[in-house]
Amino acid sequence: MPTQTTMSDWKLQTQQLRRILEISQALTSTLDLELLLQQILAAATELTETEAASIMLYDERARDLRFVAATGRNSQELARYRVPLDGSIAGTIFKSRQPLLIENAAADPRHYDQVDQKIDFQTRSILGAPLLIKERAIGVVEVVNKVNNASFSEQDTQVLSMLAAHAAVAIENAQLVNALQKAYQKLNELDKLKSDFIAIASHELRTPLGLILGYASMLKEEAGDQSDEKLDRVLHSAMRLRGLIEDMVNLRHIESGASELELSRLDMGALVKTVCMDCEGLAAAKNQTITQAFPPTPVFAMADEGKVALALTNVLTNAIKFTPNNGHIHVALQSREHEVWISVADNGPGIPEKDLERIFDRFYQVEPHMTRKHGGMGLGLSIARGMVELHGGRMWAESQVGQGSRFTFVLPINGPPQAAHGKEAM
Ligand code: ADP
Repeated sequence: MPTQTTMSDWKLQTQQLRRILEISQALTSTLDLELLLQQILAAATELTETEAASIMLYDERARDLRFVAATGRNSQELARYRVPLDGSIAGTIFKSRQPLLIENAAADPRHYDQVDQKIDFQTRSILGAPLLIKERAIGVVEVVNKVNNASFSEQDTQVLSMLAAHAAVAIENAQLVNALQKAYQKLNELDKLKSDFIAIASHELRTPLGLILGYASMLKEEAGDQSDEKLDRVLHSAMRLRGLIEDMVNLRHIESGASELELSRLDMGALVKTVCMDCEGLAAAKNQTITQAFPPTPVFAMADEGKVALALTNVLTNAIKFTPNNGHIHVALQSREHEVWISVADNGPGIPEKDLERIFDRFYQVEPHMTRKHGGMGLGLSIARGMVELHGGRMWAESQVGQGSRFTFVLPINGPPQAAHGKEAM
């Protein structure tokens, strides 16, 4: 049976444990670093009944400790100071990874009193604990001056160490989230830079290219039968360039959400046939065959003809481009519940599993751009998927390396979900 004093100690301990648990829950649910540090300070002074508290974090570059938060009116100023690892109490705690209690700070040579002088504060006693993540110290939390001039107890050391353990995990989490947010922000900025570049480049290239195409066509017309092969090459290359610029413009439209759908009730079989016919010349040049399969009855969908045709053209020309000579390409149209499924399968080189999703990213190409044999900028599939998604559809790729690839896209027969309102179901 515990004695009277140990009984009240025990009660106090239980109360403090409960409080630490509550605080720990609050800490782990806070990802805002500033707020979190303030919560830790408040908890530290509350649990140890002290006048002030501060948190220092290790700065890897400067290899010293930096005040990141402190209680009291001088906290802003304190945040500017650094504490060396050698010759300071915080440094000793950090390096030893053990808590430390100094009853008479003024008499301890390790007390870094420069900070006291600068912020006009009188430190009498200090209790500090390391902020540990497993065995690694990331900083130190210190509480200063017990209220009513009381002395620190062993219980205070335990409580502060426990709080520091929870605080360290919460700080690390918040820092990770911060770093992630920063990386994400940077990515967004890069993305914007890329989009701006595409916008400017496509705009600036269009005008001179229009002139080249115009004059080259005029010269060809004037030359009539005398037209020479070199002029054809100029025209052909200029048309290719126009295709690339169109890709850039299309992509920009999808990104900015400016692409609007011109919906009409489309005969999907007819659309597939037209696109296949348009691509026949390309396939024939490589001695490839394109076969087609259609359901027994016509399939209609509310869709934008130009955009669906563009999506299918991009996928089909890829199949032709990447499949070697004499290859085979199969285009199939299916009607499934309220959806139309269009797939393009080839017996080309296939795509590694790890790239199956990434090929839909802008500018992503499986082979490095500089060494690859095929032309293109890596925009075709992202445009195709963009066009399909504008319709509320989805698009993906399946493949077996060495066997071939299959690209499938699905469109809702009633058009994009929001556009379906007020429109008659088909
Ligand atoms: P591009 O064709 O201009 O490179 P895309 O966005 O159309 O850009 O395609 C991205 C990448 O996906 C291609 O560079 C290629 O590596 C891969 N790819 C696309 N279609 C096929 C296919 N049918 N077979 C093999 N690889 C393909």
